[in-house]
Amino acid sequence: MKFCIVLSTRPEIIKLSPLINKLAEKKNKFYLINTNQHFLNSMSKVFFDFFKIKGKIYNINPNKKSQVTFFSDSVKQIEKILKTNTPNFLIVQGDTNTGLAGCMAASLVNRNLEKNKKIKIVHIEAGLRSFDNTMPEEINRKIIDQMSNILFPPTKFDFNNLKQDNCLRFKKTFIVGNTISDVLKKYIPIADKVKILEKLNLTKKKYFLVTLHRPESVDIKENLSSLFKAFKSLHKKYNYPIIFPIHPRTKDKVKKLNLSYDKSIKIIEPLRYLEFLKLMKDSKLILSDSGGLQEEASILGVPCVTLRTTTERQITLIRNVNIIAGYNQNKILNAVKKLYNKKIKKIKDFGNGDVAEKIYKNLMSLK
Ligand code: UDP
Repeated sequence: MKFCIVLSTRPEIIKLSPLINKLAEKKNKFYLINTNQHFLNSMSKVFFDFFKIKGKIYNINPNKKSQVTFFSDSVKQIEKILKTNTPNFLIVQGDTNTGLAGCMAASLVNRNLEKNKKIKIVHIEAGLRSFDNTMPEEINRKIIDQMSNILFPPTKFDFNNLKQDNCLRFKKTFIVGNTISDVLKKYIPIADKVKILEKLNLTKKKYFLVTLHRPESVDIKENLSSLFKAFKSLHKKYNYPIIFPIHPRTKDKVKKLNLSYDKSIKIIEPLRYLEFLKLMKDSKLILSDSGGLQEEASILGVPCVTLRTTTERQITLIRNVNIIAGYNQNKILNAVKKLYNKKIKKIKDFGNGDVAEKIYKNLMSLK
């Protein structure tokens, strides 16, 4: 049995690490294809190193001139690898262009393979839906779900989305939780020893943590400047530092849009996982457009204000630990006010550190 894992971005490396490590620990044959969608050390190598990702890695080099060249080049280069080193399973995670390219390549290669040699496409984190087709990630996750043979939705809400999209027929589907719960269970005790609060001169539960990187937030000047105004008002109202580890994409956009940061916002470079985990855990509240942060915040029991108009992490809304505030200053201030003194219960829907084991066992049962 041979596995191929296609990945590249920071969240893919983080969330796939428990499963890759499980495959290595159980001595399975596997290899990775890294599309280099994320290529900066701070967004990629530090995570491959920290999570001790083992196994052979094919590093491909798609042309990044546009999303079209990236995607088409990735499909072509992945196809070449899959043809010479054909796996039984190809695994992708989430909703990235990398994941979509991996699926597409496998799906096309499958057309020329005999029935019993076809590559089974596996989607981890299946069934998430924001019901907003203007989000590139929504399109990616829907197509990936349709093309996959084996689906691992985190919760029953995600499973229901798959059902509504007619995605269950001829597929195997297992509700397993989210591997981020494995990552958190393992690393919280270690992160607690990290001295990042001292380094940034912060006091536990007396700062806000911000991240932004999605096109809807940072490519549209009106939205980004409205968010910056909201951060300034929050700082004025609560007198808490606003810590903003800036995504390279966002840094670039701020420059291009000719915007400046208010001095109330403390901009820092993207952090390594343990430092960031400690910052999330001890923050008073997280404000972010990230998908992953909504999950991590809800597992840690930290309130989250989502700086988007929709979310595909529906369970965090259902459990009342996350508020969708969009880009409007007043809405953001109101959301923070609502959550500020609220006692947040850590949610258990994403599992308890045994998700990679469940995925592994289910895959083995399909051999
Ligand atoms: N993260 C990190 N360092 C940072 C910011 C984020 O390690 O400076 C982690 C975070 O804990 C989460 C993941 O990166 O697990 C989220 O990545 P991102 O927001 O880029 O992607 P998304 O989750 O929106 O797909």
